[in-house]
Amino acid sequence: MEGYIQRLFLNLRSCNSISSYKLVKISDHLIKEIGGLFSRPVKTTLFTHVNPDGDAIGTILGLEWFLSALGHHVSMIVPNEIPFYLTWLPGCEKILVAQDQYDASLKALREADLLICVDFNEPDRLDRLKDEFIQSKAIKVLIDHHPGPKDFTDLIISVPEAGSSSELVYNLIVATGYHHLINKEIAECFFVGIMTDTGCFSYNSSNPETYRMIADLLEKGIDKDDIFNKVYDNYSADRMRLLGFSLDDKMVVIPEYSTAYIALTREELAKYNHVTGDTEGFVNMPFSIKGIKVTALFLEKEDYIKISFRSRGNFEINKFSEKHFNGGGHKNAAGGEAYMSLDETIKTFINLLPLYKNDLSSE
Ligand code: 5GP
Ligand code: MN
Repeated sequence: MEGYIQRLFLNLRSCNSISSYKLVKISDHLIKEIGGLFSRPVKTTLFTHVNPDGDAIGTILGLEWFLSALGHHVSMIVPNEIPFYLTWLPGCEKILVAQDQYDASLKALREADLLICVDFNEPDRLDRLKDEFIQSKAIKVLIDHHPGPKDFTDLIISVPEAGSSSELVYNLIVATGYHHLINKEIAECFFVGIMTDTGCFSYNSSNPETYRMIADLLEKGIDKDDIFNKVYDNYSADRMRLLGFSLDDKMVVIPEYSTAYIALTREELAKYNHVTGDTEGFVNMPFSIKGIKVTALFLEKEDYIKISFRSRGNFEINKFSEKHFNGGGHKNAAGGEAYMSLDETIKTFINLLPLYKNDLSSE
């Protein structure tokens, strides 16, 4: 199969506004290429990014159900832990977590003919699997909605206008003529991807096509309210108390720069029996305060600081994160890492704000 794939970018033709985005209308050539890969069953391994979220997990699971139905022998790999509120998703138990199942993950990577990456745009996000991935001779495909994908796969399907990778993959399945294979399980997985990546349809979700797709997923028999409940109403009492503590004791508001941040030490997280996924959504909370344009959440990990950034409007927080905190992401939602103490990280962040005074100072 080597050599069969050309290097291609899927770009949106004549897409002047988000409402004109309609994947099925574009790039027949690319649709043919990806359709060709779908229709030839091989050993296929799916990857998503470190610290996987609802879109990452929902998309690889939906794709796994779909490709398995087409006869592919599919494996799925995530670099590290899956948040507990996603583990109920159909097929989730089949995902290999490289951090815990490294040998099995390497085997799945090495034996595959086709490697598909979803929901990330640079190989660093594969964490420990990066080098093996780069060395693999298999055909490599990237399907993603983060802007500015790095050139590390044979085929790149990059649609930053898509609100989620799940929406993008749904559209690819439809465009390649396999709509009839979308069953209730696939619909559940994709619904979780769309719901979580749009903050329950509060951003990145103004395209009418998204709702036509949701209508279709509902017609496949998903229980929307039950899915919402499983994802968002499933936390521990400790997590709610950690949220209360974070907002009351830890949130710092800097009105001069329309910025608010929360920083949590390992000790504080441990005090509230923190588990992966507990701080999901914390970074968005300060947006409820009038005038806030940038928020940050700093979490102290064993050997680095994990940062989540969010912005409103035109402030490109992915560029800010890439430039100053080894990160990236979307225009209004990004993440990064700092390799210094929590205090030093916060200081660095605060000292950067004056550089962005023109964008951040309140009118
Ligand atoms: P979160 O803050 O929820 O972890 O991530 C927000 C967005 O930024 C997601 O699209 C996520 O994939 C991306 N992101 C988070 N951390 C990093 C990082 O360290 N590097 C890059 N390139 N993207 C990140
Ligand atoms: Mn996503």
